[in-house]
Amino acid sequence: MARKPKAPTAPASGSTKASAKGDKPVQAPPPVPEKPAKPKPRAAATANVAAGGKAEASVESASPERSAAAIPSPPPAAAGTPAPATAGHSGRAVSETPVAAVDTARAAVPAPVVEPESAEASGTAVGARVETDTGATGPEIALPPKGVDTAEEALPESPHAPEWSPPVAAEMPEIQPEASPEPSPQPHIQHRPSLFVVHITPELAPVAKVGGLADVVFGLGRELEIRGNHVEIILPKYDCMRYDQIWGLQRTFDDLWVPWYGGAIHCSVYFGFVHGRKCFFIEPHSQDNFFNRGAVYGFHDDILRFAFFSRAAMEFLWKSGKRPDIIHCHDWQTALVPVYLYEIYQPMGMGRPRVCFTIHNFKHQGVTGAQVLHASGLNRPEYYFHYDRLRDNHNPHAINLMKGGIVYANFVTTVSPRYAMEAKDQGQGFGLEPTLHIHHMKYGGVVNGIDYDVWNPEIDPHIPVHFGVATIEGKYADKKALRDRLLLADNEKPVVSFVGRLDPQKGIELIRHALFYTLGQGGQFVLLGSSPDGAINGYFWGLKRQFNDNPDCHLEIGYNEELAHLVYAGSDIMVVPSRFEPCGLTQLIAMRYGTIPVVREIGGLADTVIDKDFSHRALHERNGYVFRDYDERGLESALGRAIACYYQYPDHFRELMKNAMRYDYSWNHPGQDYLNIYDHIRDK
Ligand code: ADP
Repeated sequence: MARKPKAPTAPASGSTKASAKGDKPVQAPPPVPEKPAKPKPRAAATANVAAGGKAEASVESASPERSAAAIPSPPPAAAGTPAPATAGHSGRAVSETPVAAVDTARAAVPAPVVEPESAEASGTAVGARVETDTGATGPEIALPPKGVDTAEEALPESPHAPEWSPPVAAEMPEIQPEASPEPSPQPHIQHRPSLFVVHITPELAPVAKVGGLADVVFGLGRELEIRGNHVEIILPKYDCMRYDQIWGLQRTFDDLWVPWYGGAIHCSVYFGFVHGRKCFFIEPHSQDNFFNRGAVYGFHDDILRFAFFSRAAMEFLWKSGKRPDIIHCHDWQTALVPVYLYEIYQPMGMGRPRVCFTIHNFKHQGVTGAQVLHASGLNRPEYYFHYDRLRDNHNPHAINLMKGGIVYANFVTTVSPRYAMEAKDQGQGFGLEPTLHIHHMKYGGVVNGIDYDVWNPEIDPHIPVHFGVATIEGKYADKKALRDRLLLADNEKPVVSFVGRLDPQKGIELIRHALFYTLGQGGQFVLLGSSPDGAINGYFWGLKRQFNDNPDCHLEIGYNEELAHLVYAGSDIMVVPSRFEPCGLTQLIAMRYGTIPVVREIGGLADTVIDKDFSHRALHERNGYVFRDYDERGLESALGRAIACYYQYPDHFRELMKNAMRYDYSWNHPGQDYLNIYDHIRDK
């Protein structure tokens, strides 16, 4: 086989977007390898779930007056420019989910909050007015009604017995007759009015993507539109956006003056379609140069930048006369949106919107000084510096934006039921546990979906051979393509991979250990990842050089969306050994591509991966390997079983692959869950 060229030295930036081929000289193709050992296909392969049509979406057309004001006509469906999603969209995998799976999944959405008084009438978020310890009248906080604790009902009682069940596709392997599902339910047609939903977000895939948040906003927005709702997305107009992914960008509103530090900053608002999504981009004209810095995050004034953006988004809604039913904001960056709404805009007459606030990661909360209050027009520091409002639970001199979002929003979600419980009760809330307890009646978890138009091995343009459950042989051609591209030996070994940010959250030590352990167990290891932290990046560059000549190991240090598709398709096993993981998309994508996840039993990983050997769930519902303890032995206990199964029980491994591929982790179920939440808070 061709010898791997020397690894280049790490780039100064510590991160590269170069393709995998970019750092290798052109070489003669490797000699024809021996055929990799493949598990024999089962005779009774079942049909591919991805061929189905949409089953249960409630489709009503959006009210035209909601969009007419500032939105140009949608673009024609030109080649290469995806048309806006329509109600009749059919290119997504939908399963007729067994009754039990649907019911348990929906149970993850907490039941309606009972509020002591109308939020709209009172001008504040929710709940009863309370006396503060200073004698002033406090904000309205969510007071749980006596009786049923619905939020508790929605969350697992114990980390080992989660109530939430991932949705499984209806098709069952024929070899497991005991696994037959109950008869599929009739499609549930809901007759509900369409909603006008505005997402206010710092990220949107693919134009401004830093992490999973960007994917969530795009995927959820698209799903809501498919279900007949009108969705608009507001985000900053960054200079570093992928402008090639925006169709028809044009200035649509040029007279937006956003109050700031007692004066006002002039902004322009642009409109454009991002793969069919209707997006407004806010561009401030000021010396602060908030969004022209070449990156989305990483600046000393990040909190002020996004406090401004949130205020500008609200001012845009106010001035443009848009009155959405629901404003959906995301993470600390836009956590001030409900504060602005209920403290500034509702008293001015903006009565309609209700706010859903989604927390994608509790680690980053936007903790800062009083300056942000003065800047953004929240002019009574003593009022906001109350523990019932924005005062940080640990630093009495600091304001906590995420806490403000929790206190003021009508509903707070995080991205999996398990993580919701861990944040509230198991120390993963980074100090916000007491706040979550106070507001638990309006708090719950919804597992993210993945976009099946982007992550679909049957149509993926980035992989050379398409495949599905019934044509799983194609995956082995992709495995060979991955090996060819990364100059790995073509042999009988399993390819174990990791894709993701090289962040301490993701379990740096265990990622490293997975590499050594895999090689020791007779596997190949592929890593695709990068870190903004120079030390971490440098460490992995060192590993890359160390294994440069090893034909069973390749580390690609950088961000490469296209290569990621091939890694998902060409791997047999993917490790996700996170310290904590709010939801995690990589294990969901891996399963879609028949790659077996090996994950730590934490957050969304625990909600979505069912251990092959130790789960109490039916055999056909098991889809990977799970370990509990964050240490090397823990990882080995799961990764060792996965590699052993690959070698010793290829038929079982093949069934596990099919089980994983049959799961419906599209936006179908979470889309409905969010609509339930919207419906629930809309009339509060
Ligand atoms: P997080 O949001 O914490 O970064 P997630 O698992 O929720 O992690 O989402 C990560 C997303 O980013 C996935 O779509 C994954 O494929 C992608 N990704 C992460 N790192 C890379 C990389 N180096 N190259 C390509 N895609 C990446």
